Parts: sequence; structure tokens; C-alpha cells
Amino acid sequence: MYAEVIVDIAHSDVDKVFDYKITEDKITLGSRVEIPFGNRLAEGFVIRTKSDSSLPSDKVKSIIRPLDEFPAITENHLKLAAQIRDEFHIPFALALRLFIPAELRGGRVKERKVSWASLAEDISVSEMLSSLRKGSSAQEEIIEYLSHEGKVRRAELTEKFGNSAVKSLQSKGFLIVTEETSERVPYRELEAHANEVVLTSEQDEALKGIQNTEKKVSLLFGVTGSGKTEVYMRLISGVLKEGKTAIMLVPEIALTPQMLSRLRARFGSNVSILHSGLSAGERYDEWLRLRRGEAKIAIGARSAVFAPLDDLGLIIIDEEHDGSYEAETAPRYKTIDIALKLSELYGAKIVLGSATPSIDTYRRAIDGEYYLAKLKNRVNGKTLPEFIVTDMRKEVRNGNESIFSSDLKEELKNCLDAGNQAILFLNRRGYSSQVICRDCGFVPKCLNCDVSLNYHRDTDTLKCHYCNAQYKMIRACTECGSVNLSYSGIGTQKITYDLQKLFPRARILRMDNDTTHNKEGHFKILREFSEKKADILVGTQMVAKGHDFPLVTLVGILDADMSLYFSDYRSGERTFQLITQVAGRSGRADRGGKVVLQTYNPQNEVLRYALAYDYEGFFERENALRRSTGFPPYSLILRIMVESEDDGAAMEGLKSVYTSVKEIYENNKENFLFFNKMRSPLKRIKNKYRYQVLMRLVGDYDRIKDEIYERSLAEKTAKILVYIEENPSNLS
Ligand code: ADP
Ligand code: ZN
Ligand code: ZN
Repeated sequence: MYAEVIVDIAHSDVDKVFDYKITEDKITLGSRVEIPFGNRLAEGFVIRTKSDSSLPSDKVKSIIRPLDEFPAITENHLKLAAQIRDEFHIPFALALRLFIPAELRGGRVKERKVSWASLAEDISVSEMLSSLRKGSSAQEEIIEYLSHEGKVRRAELTEKFGNSAVKSLQSKGFLIVTEETSERVPYRELEAHANEVVLTSEQDEALKGIQNTEKKVSLLFGVTGSGKTEVYMRLISGVLKEGKTAIMLVPEIALTPQMLSRLRARFGSNVSILHSGLSAGERYDEWLRLRRGEAKIAIGARSAVFAPLDDLGLIIIDEEHDGSYEAETAPRYKTIDIALKLSELYGAKIVLGSATPSIDTYRRAIDGEYYLAKLKNRVNGKTLPEFIVTDMRKEVRNGNESIFSSDLKEELKNCLDAGNQAILFLNRRGYSSQVICRDCGFVPKCLNCDVSLNYHRDTDTLKCHYCNAQYKMIRACTECGSVNLSYSGIGTQKITYDLQKLFPRARILRMDNDTTHNKEGHFKILREFSEKKADILVGTQMVAKGHDFPLVTLVGILDADMSLYFSDYRSGERTFQLITQVAGRSGRADRGGKVVLQTYNPQNEVLRYALAYDYEGFFERENALRRSTGFPPYSLILRIMVESEDDGAAMEGLKSVYTSVKEIYENNKENFLFFNKMRSPLKRIKNKYRYQVLMRLVGDYDRIKDEIYERSLAEKTAKILVYIEENPSNLS
């Protein structure tokens, strides 16, 4: 027998299939194998087996050995990997790597073996004891101990009774030692409290609707606190009963300890957590449990969509609007697209959940492409929290230059006095640099694109990231003439510092990317907060996610409008989502909740919709806007990136890509809303000079898109990196 092998080297020169002789039965489709390659050894994947090779037999080398006890990649996943290779024009090896934990490659982690000791069964305890020499008290004690305990770790015995006693019992044949694989269980400390609830009628209806629909994809559109997780768990139970498996995706696993503990409580060791924050060993074990079918539910962030499950029945994507579902490195896949491919292969159902679906998703739902299930109310009829809107321009006029409005200070005091907890949310993104007038709230926008401009310090100009237009930096507000312009946000550290001065006795926790480098960092902070070891939690986007803290009765949104000015066509959508999500953390139990929203733009339409909890109204407005301005989902933004450490080479690369792709543009002008080449707004990142060809496609562009991929990626060289982003979240 012969195997077609893909060598695990992600280089396009090696991206060919090589024939090898199969030497062992264990080697089958999907096996990882060690092979001679050139004058060295390499790892590879068996992607096909066959009885003949077209090469003469003496030219075909033999596989040295299989690398695992089982084929690492399933047949369906091989198919999916091939689709990903074709779609993203990447080497096959790179696509295949998505499906295995990095630890598996190069044999870096092995299963952990543990030795267990027990008494031999064919000799009675009294026989053992009487045959011991006088004075062998340690051995006697071991026999006594094991006759009560049965089986214990060998290490425990040597620790308690000494190694020599254990050894001599072993040599006498009284002690039997066996080796077993031991799993490292991540998040062991998660307390599992299962609470059986009776579904509300809304939940019940949503559940049945999703289970019965013929449609492949369902959207569970439920307000914050409406009990979406409970519906997910019932759906999972349902597929497990049919003998199938499920994948549950969340934006970031470290931010969802409650979700994890609920799933653990309900499904026990059937749940496997795939998470980059785990140790290499833990990650490997969790993956292995799924691959062997010992666990049937994979939970994790984006990459868990590649979990090694067979008979997949369900894929849940919670908080489907979240930006983390788009991969930021090659292959730049969107999680939903991978889920759809899996659904094709297995007939699995896809369930998207959100209180604030993306415009694209909701449009598909109301167009009838997706099944739409709604949860309009919080469970037990709890109301959504009340908003208090503070106009920060007035605060400035009244001489309050601080970050905290008088409303917020007062509400914080009430909240703390009542023994409740508060969350303060800073609406900020690391690299954003918008200009805002602190007196009237004016923000400069692009005349062509109607998106906010970005301030570039190096050139002292304002730039539009969508059309590359440049404007002179303003020194005074164009609307009101004020020179009180602000162009950088404040950080959480400063807020925490000022807050502590205002409330010296309050215990404050801060959560952002600076405080949480280490493994399980977020997780610890969230747990401390949920155990009420702190009164106030201050943080950026990550405090807005789906947390369920019953004691939180106040949420403060410090700069609600900041995200409106991100130079992104989705800034309205992002703002609506953030405000709704973070507000949803308040008043989840029976204590009632409030949200103080600080803004320079109280009349802003997006804010008005968010304050009214009017998603549908917001959707109508946003959808119409996208249609009239020609932004997604009514167009496709493509950005071809050309990068090199050598500026000249990058420029040359850009020229060839542009010339080659321009032909497509010339022949299909009606499909292009925009087409141009330029330097990227951030000229240099990680030592690489960056250029781009930016375009927006409309109409029937599938074929055009493929051609663009082919032509531009053909310009890739050892020195010049070329890649393509589709509807990128950030154009810097
Ligand atoms: P969402 O994800 O929609 O924001 P959750 O799933 O976190 O909401 O549910 C909010 C709270 O309501 C949780 O504490 C959950 O245990 C509880 N819950 C969910 N369904 C029910 C129900 N049918 N009866 C009582 N409590 C419920
Ligand atoms: Zn102004
Ligand atoms: Zn523009």
C-alpha cells in the first residue's frame, strides 16, 4: 500500500503530494507520520491511501513510523482542510495544522502516565502479612493501607512509607503496579452547581423552533439576561441524546467562567475546554479526549471550531457579533464560514446567539435565510436597567473637568452604600486616535465616506482609512471654534487612581490587557469580583462581555461616544453593541439596575436607539445607511496587503500586484465601487513596511474575487509578503 503525504512544512515550494510506502497497518488516512524528506526527517499527514504509485517502486521511500496511536485528522476534516487550502490559497500543511494542537507537532507533549499500586488479588492479606520478616513495619503498613484503600498512586505510597518498602513488596509480587494515562483537568477549581430550571414559555418556544426548523442556521436573538445559555444547554442535550456531538464557541474563554461552570455542572466530563491559556499538556489532553470520543462537547474560542469531533450535530456561536470570530492571521477565515462548511459535511445545525446581532446576520434572519427565534424578556420578568444620560459638555461648562460626572459620583456612592457592586466601562481601543471637541462634541469626518478621520501625529494630518483622503489637522473646532480639542482617550489606570481618591474605602479591580498578561488572569479577576472581594470593576471591552454578576446594580459608561468615532464603517454597530452589552451587566438579579451613560453627544441617533433598547430601530437605520453608502453587507471590502522589511521591495511588490489586479478592475468596472493603491495608514509594523491595494466590490463578484486572490498571491516572494483581508475590522 502507498500513502500520499503532505509534508508538514508550510512553504509553497513543498506544497506537493509525495508518495511513500505504508509499512504498518496503523498508518491510515489522516495519520501523522515520520518520513525521510530530502536528506532529513520530517513530519507529514497522510491524505490518501492507494494500492499503486505511478512512480517505480524503488523510487518510493518508506514511511518510518506513525507519530500517534490514531489518525490525528478525520476524513471529513481532511476534506474541510482541502477546501480551506483552495479558498485562502495557502499551503495544504498550513490548513491541516488548524486541526491539531500545536503541541502534537514535533512530539513536544506526550500523554502523562501515572503509576497506580494495588495489592495482588491472588494472595490473601493474611498470607502476605505472615510471610513478611519481623521488623518490616513499613511493608506491613502498606499492606494494611492498601487493603482499605484499594488502588492508590504509587507516588503516594513512596511518599508515605518510603521507596524501599514499596520496591520490596513489588519484587515479592504482593504489589501490582499499573501505568495509566492521567488527564490534566483544566479549571478543576470551577465549582459546579447544577440548578435545574423550568424553561420560560419564550425559551421553550425558541428551543422547539430551533430544533424543528429545516433551516441550517438559526439566530437566537435574546435580550441580555433572557437565558440564552439555558437554551444552548437544552440544544446540546438534544444532540447528545441522538448520539451526536456539539461545539460551543464563545468570544474568549477566560471571560466566560460562568458559562463554563454551567456547562460542567450540566454535562460533567463530557465537556472539553480548548483554550490557548491552558498549559500545553492540558490543551493536548483536552484535545485527545475529544479525538477519542471520551468527551462530546468542545467549548472554546474561535479555533475550537476545528475541534476533532465526529458526528457533529450542533455548532453554537455565542455573542456571534463579536469581532474575535474573525481570524487575524492566515488563513483569515470567518468562523461562521467554517461552521457552514462543517454543517455541509455533517448536517450539523448552527445556532448564532446575541442580544445585538451583527447587521449582516440580522439581515439574513429577516430575509428568511436563517431561522429567527426571539427572547424579548429577561427571565422572571426582570426589567432592563434604567439609563441616566449625562451630557459631558455641560459638566465641562460647569467646571467639572474630571472623568466622573456628578451623576455618576452620586450613583456610585448610593451603590456602594447599599453594599452592591459597580462596573465602570471605558470605551476605548488601543490605537484609536480621534479628534473630538470637548465643548460641542464635533468630530471631523471624511467628505467622501462619512467615517471619522484618524489623526496621524507623524504628518500632523487627518486621514480617512477608506479612501486615503488627507485633510489638514484642525486647530479649532470647525463647528463652534473652541480650541478645547481632545485627541486621545484616558486609560483605566488613571481612572482607577482617581476613583480610589474619590472612594478611599472602595475595593477596586482593574481589568484590561495590561493587567492580564498571565494565564487565567481574567479568570481570577472575574472570580474575585463574583465572590465580592471587590466593589468596583474598571475595564475596557472585556468587562462588557456576557458576565452574570447578581450584585451589580450600577454600570458607568465613561465615554459612550468614543467608539462612534473609530474610523470604521461599523462604528455605529460597535457602539450600539457595546452599550447594550455593558448595560446588560446591571440589575440582573432582583435588586434592579441603573446605567450612567456619559456622552458629548446626547442627541446622537445610535445612542438614542441604544438607550431605548431598540435594536430593530437601530437595524433599520444602519441597514439603510450601509445600502446608500455602499458598505458591507452591500459590498465586499478587499484589502491586499504588501509588506516587506525593505521599503523599496515593498513598493515594487505593490506595483506588480496593482498592475496585475488592475486588469481585472479595467475589465469589470461595474463591480468596483473603489479601487486604488496606497501606503497603509500605519506605515510600518513590526519592522515591515506596509502598502495596500484597497477596493470595494459589488454585484456578482465571486469569480472576480478568486481572480484577485490568484493574481495578487502570485506576486508573493521570499522577501515580499502578500495577503488579503476581507471586510477587515481595522484598516490601520
Ligand atoms: P443571557 O445569556 O441571555 O444573557 P443567561 O443565560 O446568562 O442570560 O441567564 C441569566 C440568568 O437567568 C442566569 O443566572 C440563569 O441561570 C437564569 N435562568 C435562565 N433560564 C432560567 C429559567 N427558565 N428560570 C430561572 N432562571 C433562569
Ligand atoms: Zn466644537
Ligand atoms: Zn474617505
